[in-house]
Amino acid sequence: MFSLMANCCNWLKGWREPVRKVTLVMVGLDNAGKTATVKGIQGESPEDVAPTVGFSKIDLKQGRFEVTIFDLGGGKRIRGIWKNYYAEAYGIIFVVDSSDTERMEETKETMTEVLRHPRISGKPILVLANKQDREGALAEADVIECLSLEKLVNEHKCLCQIEPCSAVMGYGKKIDKSIRKGLYWLLHTIAKDFDTLNERIQKDTTEQKAYEEQEKRERAERVRKIREEREQRERKESECEGRNVPKEVDSEPISSNPFQPISTVITENEKRIEKEKRQRMETEKNAIALKPKAEQEQMDTQSLTSSCSQKTNDYRLIETYKSAFAQQLEREEEGDQQTSECLDSDTSKKKTKKLKLKRSHRVEPVSAEEAVPKNPTPPPPLPPDLGNHAPWYNLNITFMTGKKNTDGTYSN
Ligand code: GDP
Repeated sequence: MFSLMANCCNWLKGWREPVRKVTLVMVGLDNAGKTATVKGIQGESPEDVAPTVGFSKIDLKQGRFEVTIFDLGGGKRIRGIWKNYYAEAYGIIFVVDSSDTERMEETKETMTEVLRHPRISGKPILVLANKQDREGALAEADVIECLSLEKLVNEHKCLCQIEPCSAVMGYGKKIDKSIRKGLYWLLHTIAKDFDTLNERIQKDTTEQKAYEEQEKRERAERVRKIREEREQRERKESECEGRNVPKEVDSEPISSNPFQPISTVITENEKRIEKEKRQRMETEKNAIALKPKAEQEQMDTQSLTSSCSQKTNDYRLIETYKSAFAQQLEREEEGDQQTSECLDSDTSKKKTKKLKLKRSHRVEPVSAEEAVPKNPTPPPPLPPDLGNHAPWYNLNITFMTGKKNTDGTYSN
């Protein structure tokens, strides 16, 4: 009878809980095991995964959560693009290769960069200390120490849980329990503060979209100008030489889904390039027949340039990613300088209050009052491209004022 009543209560509780749509970003250095982890969660074998070159997006259902995970490539030059996905994130999964002791410093720097971003600070983070099955893998406490995790999460007001795990141990129902536990913690932490987080995400996403639109318009304008100049130049040249200029191929519509399997993109691209090459050769054969030999070299160069521009069009399927990457490269030098300046000023900051590491792998402040600074430090400056609208100080940091229950959960 008692068990029947308990079941009814659970059912009613579950019925009352709304379905939550939650987006998570999964980051970490390349080779940390992000894709293997995400595959395991998805119920696919994590063995023989290819490293994430670009991004992959997976949708799954976890209890009453509809979860979208962005598995973001971790290569050094790609990391600058992660920030384009921060606005949408309700929480972060940071995967660490615990067996790669040589890259711990790089991991720490990368994690610092992620957590100090105004669109991440204050959001919950799950750290997966992966590859525990490997000999010499750092234990949980060592990973915490190497990454200065306590200091980091306190500084940036992120609730954090670390789980030592192995992504290749199993998948689906047999996935490493620590991964399951970590994901459960992350989703329920998000759910407790859902309204506040959701408000922040709506605001940040709107701003991010406006920014992307603006960038797109500016890029289109730049491309238009370049094309116009080139066409004018070609027209003039052809007038002098008395030949016909092949007309520019119109742009094709941008694919709505940038998350295409890379093999599909490559195959389609190769076919199209082959076709265009044949057409171009035909046109050029006619032109070359009319030209003196000395001018042929110049024409070859022009043809190559034009071929490159077509190629670029073909890759527009992953335009979001590609354009962001291009911007990243442009800013890299400038960014490096700014980063080192910021880091310098960070290290000179007063040390924040000590944290206590609880048995539940949770890194949390000593007490709620101590964790909320009386005069919060102003938000770190946004990267030059994001404008100056740092949102984290608007956030009602409820997790800091919440009370910890005996079962390790929080209540307001
Ligand atoms: P990503 O670049 O972070 O996405 O890393 P991947 O998921 O592609 O993993 C990189 C390599 O590490 C692959 O060969 C995986 O099979 C391997 N790997 C991932 N997780 C583990 C783990 O927990 N233990 C071991 N031994 N290997 C792992």
